[in-house]
Amino acid sequence: MSREELLAAAREVVLEGLVVSPWGNLSLRISDDSFLITPSGVDYKTMDSEDLVEIGLDGNIKQGKLKPSSEYQLHLEIYKARRDIRAIVHTHSPYASAFAVARKRLPAVIEDLAQIVGGDVEVAKYALPGTGVLARNAVLALGNKFAVLLANHGVVGVGRNMEEALRVVRVVEKGAKVFLLSTIIGGPVLLEPEEIQVMHDFYLNKYGQR
Ligand SMILES: [Zn+2]
Repeated sequence: MSREELLAAAREVVLEGLVVSPWGNLSLRISDDSFLITPSGVDYKTMDSEDLVEIGLDGNIKQGKLKPSSEYQLHLEIYKARRDIRAIVHTHSPYASAFAVARKRLPAVIEDLAQIVGGDVEVAKYALPGTGVLARNAVLALGNKFAVLLANHGVVGVGRNMEEALRVVRVVEKGAKVFLLSTIIGGPVLLEPEEIQVMHDFYLNKYGQR
């Protein structure tokens, strides 16, 4: 079930143009001390559930024949730092990447972004891909929010489930596009930090049918 959910999410990010296969990577926490992650360099179109790799929070591979994504440390460090997070989606989507390349934070200027991310999307300090330094920089810049930009690289969205992590990367991509478009017509008007906090609290605790 978790394996199918992870595979389905991986196919969606490719179809939506958020990554060019086989780049990007996704993971899903399956217990308090392990998570499943997409393998390194396998095309999302042909990837099957046996290709996914299970990694323990101690960093050791628990199950799987293939090498895990080269960015597995990024996922590992986020799960260790954030007990509330059960899914992570890392993409290289173009508008979010524009902010990452300019090394400019993406302000939470639009309500869906403010609600789901909980503030501006910060840019983690640059580090080479696949390194522990990149993972630690990302955790620092992420804080208790739901998205972070990786300098000259891409974006990471996290969620309490896979649906939420997917929604985060979509909303960040849309927010980046809206921000850039608004600069052509006079520039965005920023929301107040208190307004963003109210919206995020509402989203976390009261949104939906409950
Ligand atoms: Zn990447």
